[in-house]
Amino acid sequence: MKENKIFVTKATLPPKEEFLQYVDKIWESAWLTNMGDVHNQLEKRLSEFMDGVEVVLTVNGHLALELALQSLKIEGEVITTPFTFASTTHAIVRNGLNPVFCDIKEDDFTMDPDKLEGLITKDTKAIMPVHVYGNICDVEAIESIAKKYGLYVIYDAAHTFGERYKGKSVADFGDMSVFSFHATKVFNTIEGGAIALRDKNIRKSLDFLKNFGIADKENVPYVGSNAKMNEFAAAMGLCNMRHLPEYIEKRKQISEIYTERLSDLKGIRLNKYNNDTVYNYAYFPIVVENGDRDELYESLARENIFARKYFYPCTNAYECYVDRFDANLTPVALDISKKVLTLPIYPDLEATDVERICDIIRREL
Ligand SMILES: *Cc1c(COP(=O)(O)O)cnc(C)c1O
Repeated sequence: MKENKIFVTKATLPPKEEFLQYVDKIWESAWLTNMGDVHNQLEKRLSEFMDGVEVVLTVNGHLALELALQSLKIEGEVITTPFTFASTTHAIVRNGLNPVFCDIKEDDFTMDPDKLEGLITKDTKAIMPVHVYGNICDVEAIESIAKKYGLYVIYDAAHTFGERYKGKSVADFGDMSVFSFHATKVFNTIEGGAIALRDKNIRKSLDFLKNFGIADKENVPYVGSNAKMNEFAAAMGLCNMRHLPEYIEKRKQISEIYTERLSDLKGIRLNKYNNDTVYNYAYFPIVVENGDRDELYESLARENIFARKYFYPCTNAYECYVDRFDANLTPVALDISKKVLTLPIYPDLEATDVERICDIIRREL
């Protein structure tokens, strides 16, 4: 057995010298945070990269979600999905709003628009769908329903940084899209996040909200938070942006090896890809349809390969929500959460290791 442990992901780091050049500049300026020069450069760079949408950088993806919701000044219900990271549901609840869970599609794990309209009530104010694993939601169907009922759409786009759909940036849909630049994501700023928005007029309130709601020295119009990205994090972002195409290309190659070696296996189902999306290959999920997901997880772990049961459990099955939600109301999400496993994928994962992982899966199923 190989000694080194392989985890589901590993942070991508740019060449150290590139980062240190920014460190020298930060030292000279002695400006460490509060919308400094490097922060502003990264905002501009990301905006260009995402077809000119407005970009508001934040300290992490979670606070970006919370502030995006807060900026709408709404009360009532937000329709979302439970097949996501804790952050999405918590952001809604922590804003004093009520999440209403829509089930997901079996083939790409995103919100099922056929089940959306029936959940809309007079209290519904917004929809917060999640782009899952790199699969972009059915944006046309969701946004036409949103338009019909006058609802906001904020995408949790944490898994889809860098993607394009029908020739457009993934950030160019809905009212806002929220990204995470956490160390484990395709593009990282150590910790970080951003709100991308198409309407320039709401940008100002988000700029205030991330800085305690302060507009200027004597005016505080909002009950804000502290969600500013610091200069070192922004420097990491500028460095990683230079290498993003290589990172995604390497992920694509790994994804292709998995697909080639696993697609004929009867016991598992692979992610469905479509030709309209340029993917970032953020995750490689398999759904164990015939066999035991937990046993497969253990077999891999015995060989020092640490896949992840992601997302499991569904957020509406969390201990903190037992009295509040019923996971049985979203049966597809509940079922998939018990069968899904995401396999290791990161740019410097060796092809031989990917092949070995496939061999173990073939042996076990
Ligand atoms: C990572 C992630 C978040 C939270 O982002 P942080 O930067 O870790 O706060 C939110 N939603 C999803 C789907 C994520 O994967």
